[in-house]
Amino acid sequence: MHDIWNPWHGCEKICPRDNIKRSNGQPVWQHKCVECLGCLHICPDKAIDYGDITKGRKRYRHKEVKAADLLRGISAEK
Ligand code: SF4
Repeated sequence: MHDIWNPWHGCEKICPRDNIKRSNGQPVWQHKCVECLGCLHICPDKAIDYGDITKGRKRYRHKEVKAADLLRGISAEK
């Protein structure tokens, strides 16, 4: 996680394992990650990396799927 921590909370919302919580505005990882990379790809600021492997690389989302679509689907399931 970079210093950038978007107040948007998209990574928290999309995580299927509730692995990302906040404390005093900072992320606190819950050690339940299954490496789905949903948080990495949804963050508009590229604030989350998978070690050095994803640094400086593009994020992927299908061109017809917006972040709001993903989050809407997630909130309907939770
Ligand atoms: S990679 Fe997936 S499971 Fe791990 S913290 Fe991110 S959204 Fe949650």
